[in-house]
Amino acid sequence: MTKTIDRLESEVRSYVRSFPTIFTKAEGSILTDEKGREYIDFFAGAGALNYGHNEPDLRDALIAYLGSMGVTHSLDMATEAKVEFLKTFDELILQPREMDFKVMFPGPTGTNAVEAAIKLARKVTERTSVVAFTNAFHGMTLGSLALTGNESKRNGAGMDLHGVTRLPFCGYMGDDTSTLDYMEAVLADPSSGIDAPAAFIVETIQGEGGVNVASRAWLERLQKIAKRHGSLLIVDDIQVGCGRTGTFFSFEDYDIQPDIICLSKSISGYGLPFALTLIRPGIDDWKPGEHNGTFRGNNLAFVTATESLKKYWSDEKLSKAVKAKAEMVMERLTGLANRFDGVARGRGLIQGLAFDEMPAVADAVSKEAFENGLIIETSGAHGEVLKLLPALTISEKELERGLDILEGAIEKVMKEHRTPSKSWSASESTVEIQS
Ligand SMILES: *Cc1c(COP(=O)(O)O)cnc(C)c1O
Repeated sequence: MTKTIDRLESEVRSYVRSFPTIFTKAEGSILTDEKGREYIDFFAGAGALNYGHNEPDLRDALIAYLGSMGVTHSLDMATEAKVEFLKTFDELILQPREMDFKVMFPGPTGTNAVEAAIKLARKVTERTSVVAFTNAFHGMTLGSLALTGNESKRNGAGMDLHGVTRLPFCGYMGDDTSTLDYMEAVLADPSSGIDAPAAFIVETIQGEGGVNVASRAWLERLQKIAKRHGSLLIVDDIQVGCGRTGTFFSFEDYDIQPDIICLSKSISGYGLPFALTLIRPGIDDWKPGEHNGTFRGNNLAFVTATESLKKYWSDEKLSKAVKAKAEMVMERLTGLANRFDGVARGRGLIQGLAFDEMPAVADAVSKEAFENGLIIETSGAHGEVLKLLPALTISEKELERGLDILEGAIEKVMKEHRTPSKSWSASESTVEIQS
């Protein structure tokens, strides 16, 4: 059957190349393929499955809704499912955090939430340029792609990508240089050539960009700079929001007040397409229908999102569990980093193990791990970072088992790497797609 994929699916396909098998079932943190092999999922739909695959209570709610002839498609007309979602989101997420936001439903993908955010920021400020950071990832449609750092992704545009000023992310110049000193200097200098932007768009932890963590001090100072220059602050919490760091929003413990927040990936709770652009009320300057779309009310996602909020965000249980599991992962990764000249970094349950000096190691480990029943992706400019993104609900046993497989894979790859007789390269370890 992968023959069918190879023959019919466009060359643009990607994850099937990294994980070349045909999956038939998914439950919690386990994926099963057609041969009955089980894989522990440390990828979780790139963060779209924070509560695991086919979460039973969400699935029950979804089946009940379908069985009751609930509305599936409604453009952005009002449905009971939408009202329930808005009320629940307000009661369980916004109000307890004293966050006053209008909820916008852009199209159902992350890049849609970002497009809406920058469109609105430009409209509100009457400025064109948006500051995005080195190694940023904000999506693949032209506006979001212009914000994205990755060269190969940007090259796919086939046209100029503009309206963006690129500035260095936290730590980009090494630990001793504050990238914000540079930013403040150029923004204060009327002859620097860099004008005050409409907005700064930032990921608090760059997921695709290599699990680069922005420090609290950096983010809080960025907020001050934005305010001083009349620019909006947009937090793209698409990958690291919805509990990934242990709090619902990744920045909740910090003293920052974003003007716009983008959410997608895990907001439906079930892996269904759904995105939100949260807007500070004073800047909700849209005209009716000014940013439109056919799929702006995914009722099935409303149902599972509501259920996920009720189940996981009515108390502190999930947050505490994430923090406990995060410590477990950090400890293991730090050990591996020390043993194998890597760097461990991350926050909550997004953590990375970077091999800056031997970038191809990460890819080889990912392949070896897959052979041994673990799905783990790489990220970073050179694919040098193994990115751990398990479901927040993963059991400690599955987490331990996944970490064991990872450790075994690193040991094996490093042994080959250190054996001079064996010429070791990334291409050599490429796994063929079996048919
Ligand atoms: C995945 C992602 C996006 C894009 O979301 P899509 O649903 O793939 O369009 C944008 N920003 C961040 C931080 C992401 O991780």
